[in-house]
Amino acid sequence: MAKIKKRDRARNIFNMNHDLFRCPVCKGQMMRTDAYGLNCSAGHNFDLARKGYVNLLTRGQNCVYDTELFQARRQVFRAGLFGPLIAKVSEVINELSFDKRITLLDVGCGEGSFLCSLVKQITQMPVTPLGIDISKEGINLAASYNDPLMWCVADLAQLPLQDASIDIILNVLSPANYGEFHRVLKARGVVVKVIPGQHYLGELRDFLRYDQDHDRYSNEEVIKHLEENLEIQAIHPVHYRFMVNSSLWPHLVRMTPLMWNKSIHEDLSVSDKEIKQVTVDLNIIVGSVPDSSGGPSRKGIIN
Ligand SMILES: [Zn+2]
Repeated sequence: MAKIKKRDRARNIFNMNHDLFRCPVCKGQMMRTDAYGLNCSAGHNFDLARKGYVNLLTRGQNCVYDTELFQARRQVFRAGLFGPLIAKVSEVINELSFDKRITLLDVGCGEGSFLCSLVKQITQMPVTPLGIDISKEGINLAASYNDPLMWCVADLAQLPLQDASIDIILNVLSPANYGEFHRVLKARGVVVKVIPGQHYLGELRDFLRYDQDHDRYSNEEVIKHLEENLEIQAIHPVHYRFMVNSSLWPHLVRMTPLMWNKSIHEDLSVSDKEIKQVTVDLNIIVGSVPDSSGGPSRKGIIN
């Protein structure tokens, strides 16, 4: 049997799920099409790249993260830094009571490893996964996986998705936009957000002296914003140590700005004192849209 080309397979998947999307220009419906891309009823076209992703940005973005950062993240990922985290997130999702196929949106999916791995561990229900990131470099790398997932370059503040189209929004160590989250979530949908705890990669931050001029990292602000915007159903702390060998070390240092939303630091030189293990201290927070609409305004991008 002839192997179906990646781009053809991606076209089939986008066609099957065209009704999830809305045009980022006119907010119109996306149509089923024989062409390679997503086309709205008003004639706005978004091409499907050869690798099988769609760029739905309406203008160019100055993204500070380059391919090298995403490749470093992939190396660290493959070494298993996030293995126990993914296992716990999949456990949390498998316990949610959805009785039919779910749409799972990873907002800020970066180079896609997290979503690809997670989907393989969701066993309790069929899943339609979609990864979105504003970085074309990230999505380009994500689409290099052979898994049949949908990948889009898109703006978090203007998700190219229909209202009430998503069952689960995954938001891992990445900014949130609760206004958009509320809009695209179905009535019984949930947000699964992963945020750092106080000790997350503390050894690395000490080494890079990120905390030298100010207090230790605190997630209080992030949790406060979260509480203002979501009905928190559960918080699952995840804490473990991860061994770092010398070949992984440069990748870990390289990906650090990505994890902390910092601008790329210039000094990546590594001294003799290598770190042998790092602390992974994270919280998985499950939240739903509050019933009343009388709360604070749910706008803006929040970490
Ligand atoms: Zn349009």
